[in-house]
Amino acid sequence: MTKPYADKQVWFLTGSQGLYGEETLQQVADQSQDVARLLDENESTPAPIVWRPVLTDAESIRRAMLDANADDSVLGVIVWMHTFSPAKMWIKGLEELRKPLLHLHTQANVELPWSDIDFDFMNLNQAAHGDREFGYIATRLGTSRKTVVGHASDPRVVSETESWIRAAAGIAEAKSLKVARFGDNMRFVAVTEGDKTEVEQRLGTEVNTWGVNELAAKVEAATDAQVDAVIADYLEQYEVADELLPGAERHESLRDAAAIEVGLRTFLDEGGFKAFTDNFEDLGALKQLPGIAVQRLMAEGYGFGGEGDWKTAILVRLSAVMGAGRAGGASLMEDYTYDLTPGDGKILGAHMLEVSPSLSSAKARVEIHPLGIGGKADPVRLVFTADPGPAVVVALSDIRTRLRLTANVVENITPPELPNLPVGRAVWQPKPDLPTSAACWMAAGAAHHTVMSTSVPLETYRDFAEMAGIELLAIDESTTLGGFRNELKWNQVYHHIAEGL
Ligand code: MN
Repeated sequence: MTKPYADKQVWFLTGSQGLYGEETLQQVADQSQDVARLLDENESTPAPIVWRPVLTDAESIRRAMLDANADDSVLGVIVWMHTFSPAKMWIKGLEELRKPLLHLHTQANVELPWSDIDFDFMNLNQAAHGDREFGYIATRLGTSRKTVVGHASDPRVVSETESWIRAAAGIAEAKSLKVARFGDNMRFVAVTEGDKTEVEQRLGTEVNTWGVNELAAKVEAATDAQVDAVIADYLEQYEVADELLPGAERHESLRDAAAIEVGLRTFLDEGGFKAFTDNFEDLGALKQLPGIAVQRLMAEGYGFGGEGDWKTAILVRLSAVMGAGRAGGASLMEDYTYDLTPGDGKILGAHMLEVSPSLSSAKARVEIHPLGIGGKADPVRLVFTADPGPAVVVALSDIRTRLRLTANVVENITPPELPNLPVGRAVWQPKPDLPTSAACWMAAGAAHHTVMSTSVPLETYRDFAEMAGIELLAIDESTTLGGFRNELKWNQVYHHIAEGL
């Protein structure tokens, strides 16, 4: 199976020192290649693991880190001190490193050869203290990293490493991501505001605005042949409502929706944009609020936020990248309405139209209904319910001096029939329960728009936040409101000091 990040790589660096002599260093080289190969050949490992020559002095370590920085295909660096690598040799290299770091605390063997272990074996296999020497200097330097402990054949080690690689792919994507905003954000709304300059400095993502009529011009330029091709795809992939079928009374609305899709795709691809926003208050010459077009683009991996919400658009795109190759997907989501049954609280999430069908494995229905907001023609949309199963909802808020990610682990459930609700939606039970989740969420000042991901676990968002240097507050099975409120206060102090003057 092709790795989802086959065109990227992760470097595997092994630390040692010259004192051991040629023979031992050859064993170190051989065994570290075996470890790198074991990880690389595991089908869960999403990027190629590339072994690099053993490092035995400060200058080669510094050079390896500079080379990793300079190569755009390098997502991050795994380091392992097979033997003892005196850690002052790592100072200059770690000070230069700008890529995510994973410290793999491992050993060539799983079990000890108890009956014939001798001092040569001890001398060769001393990561148990060699890696602790590395941990000391990394902590002393304040080097951000993930530490994974265990043998490279252990599924837990593979899984923790996979999560780190996926997060590193998210970081790399953020650095090259360009977001197109069609118009500004919805008037008077607070949480969709934010510091785009701070985001570009922190994540590397460019967020800029274009007049919506520049998009409308691309829609106007869509040819009949292009629209026909999109309609053919609708008819093949979805169950299309009778009134929208070719020849039926509202087919022209389906063609208008398809033209919007052609125009959006053209605009995004010509500009190199992988995420975008729109605003129902500012649709210019567009005939409908983009519905099915946005839903399909999200399912392909484009980021999107409604009402000009560019921060959620970024999260949707990054979540699509971090979940690449896995079942499920990522979508704009909004906590819409509750079932407040005591002890069995549920959230019905949706948006006006724009929920990604990647959350559902069933065949979606294409329907048209009035929107009641925005004053445009009735928009065409995909209607479906997200599959039952585990998911995470994540929001990015700008809390004045910095960015905050808030994540809630949730369980999507199969709701009763919803025959009168013509939108894509999900129904979930938040962890640990609705009252605790909602109280924590609002205490954190987290947004009402989120990305819902059914393919990226909480661990990967944690890894991402650590790499990006952004706070992440998690609400999961073990969360209590009291503990969470304390965490907010402690984090406030920590981040205030960590940011400096
Ligand atoms: Mn909204």
